[in-house]
Amino acid sequence: SKTNQSLMQRRQNAVPRGVGQIHPIFAERAENATVWDVEGREYIDFAGGIAVLNTGHVHPKIKAAVSAQLDRFSHTCFQVLAYEPYVELCEKINARVPGDFDKKTLLVTTGSEALENAVKIARAATGRAGVIAFTGGYHGRTMMTLSMTGKVAPYSAGMGLMPGGVYRAQYPCELHGVSTADAMASIHRIFKNDAEAKDIAAIVIEPVQGEGGFYVAPKDFMQQLRALCDEHGILLVADEVQTGAGRTGTFFAMEQMGVAADLTTFAKSIAGGFPVAGVCGKADIMDAIAPGGLGGTYAGSPLACAAAIAAMDVFAEEQLLARSLALGEQMVAGFNALAEKHAVIGEVRGLGAMVAVELFDGGDHSKPAAGLTGQIVAKAREKGLILLSCGVYGNVLRILMPLTIPDAQFQQGMDIIAECFAELA
Ligand code: PMP
Repeated sequence: SKTNQSLMQRRQNAVPRGVGQIHPIFAERAENATVWDVEGREYIDFAGGIAVLNTGHVHPKIKAAVSAQLDRFSHTCFQVLAYEPYVELCEKINARVPGDFDKKTLLVTTGSEALENAVKIARAATGRAGVIAFTGGYHGRTMMTLSMTGKVAPYSAGMGLMPGGVYRAQYPCELHGVSTADAMASIHRIFKNDAEAKDIAAIVIEPVQGEGGFYVAPKDFMQQLRALCDEHGILLVADEVQTGAGRTGTFFAMEQMGVAADLTTFAKSIAGGFPVAGVCGKADIMDAIAPGGLGGTYAGSPLACAAAIAAMDVFAEEQLLARSLALGEQMVAGFNALAEKHAVIGEVRGLGAMVAVELFDGGDHSKPAAGLTGQIVAKAREKGLILLSCGVYGNVLRILMPLTIPDAQFQQGMDIIAECFAELA
């Protein structure tokens, strides 16, 4: 019978090494917050396929919606023969994305593609080509998004320079010595040193950084960004690929920032495990590109649209926004209690259920404990819990379990994390 080890061997022979793998495990089956591997071992899933499974693995309502769509058809290409689920999903997203203005939505397939298209739309709408992105930002693995992603190794290392016209501002992060004022000053430095404001099409920001370490943008920073964009005719793009679909306690994180972005990108949990992503924004901006300039063969796949519509219904029916807030509070309380016992936990932070703990040797904020973070992830796996790390220094444990996780299983996962700290920290 199949083993993880034999499959790893085949993987190594058949798949390029550039595709990383955090856990040496091959999945066989999954249900809500539980995964079984090919050897029959059971795991609690606190990774959710990197923020994709806020509604859990194979939610029965989503499965039923996809099956029903599959019985009708799986593909026509929306640009050839259109279908209602695409339009219905766009209507629903337009109603959900913050901003008191008319909106339109474009559907694509991946988060990277959503960011690519947000930049294309911003360029067409403003007639400008410059983009400002942030230190520690993550926007994808395509060429333009690699320019915007604020981390060279491993994402673009060995590939040469990525497309130009992207300028890097500092993401505010008090823990690492960057205040809101510092971050704003870094943008003014770009205007002074690198590019005039009138050549900047968009400022692209994650309201809470995902891969970069779960740092929450201060509300007043987001408001100052909005004012700066308005002053200079720059479009504010909120990348909600990881924060969206209820992770932060509101359906979109920008709902908590008191200002709206001109363009919002979404992906991941929006469709409960099916590949659909998109850009939602001000109707006139979204219409800046002429017919034929947007789209893609699989963009807005009917199966994924059906899944996304069902996922949004599940959010309402199961009150998952309230659940996100409640789980977030329990995690913060649990990790704060753990921090009292382990000095290595330097900070516990988050927004809603987008919660992380950052580890430092001896609690010294200048000494990121990446080694220990990796050991905890490995130890947790031995104990049957799938965890993920993140952060520019690789010293952050992030929790992305399904919001539909049963209480007892959630507690079991938290207990395993506490055991790992007791044994290793
Ligand atoms: N933006 C953010 C904020 C992300 O977290 C990610 C994926 N981790 C992306 C964009 C890229 O999405 P994808 O991997 O679907 O291309």
